[in-house]
Amino acid sequence: MVTDTLPPIGFSGRADTIRAALDDLPADALAITNLTNVRWLTGFTGSNASVAVLPDRLVLVTDGRYRERAADELATAGVDGEVVIGFTQAEQHDALVQQFRGIERVGAEAGSLTHARWTALAADLPLVPADGLVEDGRRSKDAGEVARIAAACRCADAALAEVAPQLGGGMTEADVRMELEYRMRRHGADGPSYDTIVASGPNHAARPHHEASGRTIVEGDTVVIDVGALVDGYHSDMTRSYVIGDPTQQQTEIYDLLLGIQRAGIDAVRAGVPARDVDATCRDLIADAGYADWFVHSVGHGVGLLIHEDPFESPASTSELRVGDVVTVEPGLYRVGFGGFRIEDLVEVTEAGCRTLTASPKDSPCPPSPPTT
Ligand code: ZN
Ligand code: ZN
Repeated sequence: MVTDTLPPIGFSGRADTIRAALDDLPADALAITNLTNVRWLTGFTGSNASVAVLPDRLVLVTDGRYRERAADELATAGVDGEVVIGFTQAEQHDALVQQFRGIERVGAEAGSLTHARWTALAADLPLVPADGLVEDGRRSKDAGEVARIAAACRCADAALAEVAPQLGGGMTEADVRMELEYRMRRHGADGPSYDTIVASGPNHAARPHHEASGRTIVEGDTVVIDVGALVDGYHSDMTRSYVIGDPTQQQTEIYDLLLGIQRAGIDAVRAGVPARDVDATCRDLIADAGYADWFVHSVGHGVGLLIHEDPFESPASTSELRVGDVVTVEPGLYRVGFGGFRIEDLVEVTEAGCRTLTASPKDSPCPPSPPTT
């Protein structure tokens, strides 16, 4: 297992961080129903659970499938919490509600609860909306979390290093996707972080989130490959772009322009900077070069237990970057008839600025040559 050599994740103290944040709401306790937040708080990885964060204790409610596993995972994480089993949804509801007896204001995750579940809980509990508390805590990755994200980056780097030299050898987009996903697992990943994007040629590469098809990649194509791995629940995210055969002058110019802009975006990442400023750095340079309408998405997003999470580097963002954020920087230029390029790296915000976790070569749009035997 890749994770055997990685530092542990520091779960202890997370519940206290959430309790401290509750004071500002105000709420006296929190019902956590979002599974990603449950995992971050307790280490529980199953598909059904809710957690009561109470002033003096923590209770995880799940179903019979997870009786042993839940107890094991909380113990492994070093989380001091009680596991309560409900064999039916009604029993789980009652078990969760019971934990909050006597509490005046119970925070709940309005943004991710269904209307039906909110209504059911609100019938039995004095709910107040309490969104974003755990998400905010999730932003600050500790050494164990960054190590997992970095390990996922290494799996994707290794897979791409093996597959990129084969581009143009008659492979289809789907072939490239399959090879990348297989090789990431061979290098220790639990799987792909998301459906690997392989977008080639004048039309497909012009779509930022094209799904790999049966199209054969041919000479003259631009090719956008967006590939990430999953390690112990943590994602990686990286894009590299290529030209098959000798690049035209236009392809070279646009690639070099984008590369300079992407590097400027990475240089803009540091603690204390508004996330929207990283977006603006790239967006303004793209506009200055006359390509404003070739750029159709925002510059980046946080990555962790989810592939897209806070903070988002977009014009609408109100977040400020802080130490422990792990974010992408991924400007792209797309135009039907030309194709497209996107260059994406994953960076960790550090005291000194930022550290790039993805390492695949990007200096040139030419895929590396196949190794000679
Ligand atoms: Zn990506
Ligand atoms: Zn991304």
